[in-house]
Amino acid sequence: MPELRKDPLNDRWVIIAPERADRPNSFLRARADTDVANCPFCPGNEALTTSELYAVRPANSPINSPGWTLRAIPNRYPALRTEIPISRTADGLYDRMGGTGAHEVIIETPEHNGGLAKMDAPQIAQVLRAWQVRMLDLSRDERLAYAQIFQNVGTPAGATLAHPHSQLIALPLVPREIAQELTAARAHFGAKSRCLLCDLVAQELTAKERLVHENESWVALAPFASQSPFEVHLHPKTHRPSFEKLDGSELGALAACLRTVLRKLAIALEGPAMNLVLMTLPLREPAHPFYHLRIVLKPTLTQPGGFEWGTGFCINPTSPEDAARFLRQTEA
Ligand SMILES: [Zn+2]
Ligand SMILES: [Zn+2]
Repeated sequence: MPELRKDPLNDRWVIIAPERADRPNSFLRARADTDVANCPFCPGNEALTTSELYAVRPANSPINSPGWTLRAIPNRYPALRTEIPISRTADGLYDRMGGTGAHEVIIETPEHNGGLAKMDAPQIAQVLRAWQVRMLDLSRDERLAYAQIFQNVGTPAGATLAHPHSQLIALPLVPREIAQELTAARAHFGAKSRCLLCDLVAQELTAKERLVHENESWVALAPFASQSPFEVHLHPKTHRPSFEKLDGSELGALAACLRTVLRKLAIALEGPAMNLVLMTLPLREPAHPFYHLRIVLKPTLTQPGGFEWGTGFCINPTSPEDAARFLRQTEA
C-alpha cells in the first residue's frame, strides 16, 4: 500500500508507492510508444483498463465499450488510493501518513496519435470539462485537500504511454509549492489589498514584452523568471481562484487560448516533450480574494543537473523575452 513520508531534513513529503514498480517499463523508459493493437487506451481495448468513472459517449452506448470520445478511469498503478483510511503516525524523527488519495487517468481522445495540440477548441474544452467533473466529484471526499491535474507528453517528460491522456492525483494535504504561493499571495494582498496575479497580468498586458498570446479572457505569458526555455503560463484576465468553478464560456476561451499556444510551441519547437500543470486553489479553501489560478506549460528542453538539485536554482539559457517574441511570431 502506498504511504506518504516526510523528510525531516527539509519537510518535503514523498509518496512511497511500491506497487508502481509492477507497471510495464517502470524503470526502462526507452520509449513511450505502444502499438495501437496493444494500447490500453485505444477504442476496443476497454477491457484492458479499470472501469470508467466518467465518459463522453452516445446515450445508448454501454459503459466500457467503444464509441466514446473521452474516458476517465482510475489509474491501474495508483500512487495513492481512496480505500486507504486517513492516518498520521510518528516513528521517532519520522512522520508518515497513509496513502489516502486518488489517482485517475483522463483518456483525452480515441485517436492514438492525437493530442491537445491537434484538437479543435471544442474538443479541448471537453477535456477541460472532464478535469472539472473529476475535481468536483473528488472534492466531496472531505479527506482530500488538493487535486493536481497534469499531463506528461513524450518520454523525456515522464510519459509511459503514448496515447494522449492527462492525470489527476488528489492529495490528503496541500503541497508545499501551492502553500508557498498562497503565502506570497496572502502577503501581497495584506500589503496592497489586491491580488498578486491580477497585478502581474495588468503589468504584463501593458509591457507586452513577455506576451505570447491573448484572447478576450485569457492571457499567455513567458514568466519573468522562467525556470526553463519556452515556459508559458496561461492566466485568466479577471480574478479566478478555482479551476473547477470556471463557467462554460470561460472554459471555451481557455480552450481556444491553449490550442493556439500549444500549436505555436509544437511548430516552433517541432513537437517537444512537455509537461502541463494546473495550479489552482486547494479543494477545502474558501473563495480567496488573493489566489489566482494558472496553467503552466513546460517544454522539456533541458534536464535538471546537480546544481539544480543542490540549490533549487534553475539555469535557463533562453530569456523569456526572446521566447515570447519567437512564439508571437510563430503562426498557429
Ligand atoms: Zn492508443
Ligand atoms: Zn487575481
